[in-house]
Amino acid sequence: MRLFDCDHCGQSVHFDNRQCVRCGYRLGFVPDRLAMFSLEPAMEPNWHLVVEPARSVRFCANAALDICNWMVDADDVQELCIACRHNRLVPNVDTPDGVNRWRRIDQAQRHLFYSLLRLRLPHPDRKQDPVGGLVFDFLEDKVNSMGMVEPAMTGHEEGLIAIRAAEADDVTREMARMSMHEPYRTLLGHFRHETGHFVWNKLVRNRDDFDGFRAIFGDEREDYDTALQRHYESGPRQNWQTSFISAYASSHPWEDFAECFAHYLHIVDTLETARSFGLAVDPRGHEEMASEVDFDPYRANNAEQLVSAWVPLSVAVNSIQRSMGQPDFYPFVLSPPVVEKLEYLHRLIQAAGRESEARAA
Ligand SMILES: [Zn+2]
Ligand SMILES: [Zn+2]
Ligand SMILES: [Zn+2]
Repeated sequence: MRLFDCDHCGQSVHFDNRQCVRCGYRLGFVPDRLAMFSLEPAMEPNWHLVVEPARSVRFCANAALDICNWMVDADDVQELCIACRHNRLVPNVDTPDGVNRWRRIDQAQRHLFYSLLRLRLPHPDRKQDPVGGLVFDFLEDKVNSMGMVEPAMTGHEEGLIAIRAAEADDVTREMARMSMHEPYRTLLGHFRHETGHFVWNKLVRNRDDFDGFRAIFGDEREDYDTALQRHYESGPRQNWQTSFISAYASSHPWEDFAECFAHYLHIVDTLETARSFGLAVDPRGHEEMASEVDFDPYRANNAEQLVSAWVPLSVAVNSIQRSMGQPDFYPFVLSPPVVEKLEYLHRLIQAAGRESEARAA
């Protein structure tokens, strides 16, 4: 994620800001420009003007509850922005807690969409692709007749992504993280992982492009339910660390792909943040660990370039975290087989991006 600036006064502003702290202008994110804009008043109620080039816009309908800060064109028939229009079931907003949960979920979702737009990955909604389009359900937990909480399940099926809304609560998510023995669990991580399954459908399965995939990730025809059952009952594969990014990735090739897709986005997007802040590391006496992000990570040449910049940077930030008594920010090891998987993903994603660019031209 890059750092933005207020186009009215030049102040640095962040992706999720609603208002400029210096000039006080209301801010909105214009998705097709991938940038934040200060909003000038317009003649029509609820319309706003952005300058350079001048354009009338209005807020996504979810801005009414301060859930979203993205804009749509003023004359667009859609009420919701390009991210929110993918939602089917949204969290209960009867309570302030419910609104806050949705706000955190929506923030992570827009962050995901920022990356999808930057990479120009396909993201049809259900109107454009009624069977396999990308749609989200944010599910509330149920309480059964015994008064026990039945947690909603996070998962993916044919473009439908379910996210357990309660995971927006830190305590609930942390309990889930500990019970699953995971080193890392975030809303953004869920969005990135589940979208990985959707991307596999679109870019591998629907194109009948299995050979390259199987050569790297193995044969996904292995029964999925049996594989997951084995994973949960007998634990992960022995020595999974040597060829998988996480224990869960070792459960089935689909999960391996989704995990690697999530990590591809983690790395690319976080490197973009590092680049926009000019972060570079040059450890004294350990010059072999120097790193500077002097390229656009969203348009990297290959995964090797990303990983070479990422490893020294993540080691440095992990060390800073430890000095504050905090857990590692990136508690993962990128073994050579994992880098090969990221290389496959890089080629797949960049090729899809070039195709959409050619279509748009
Ligand atoms: Zn400003
Ligand atoms: Zn929106
Ligand atoms: Zn998965």
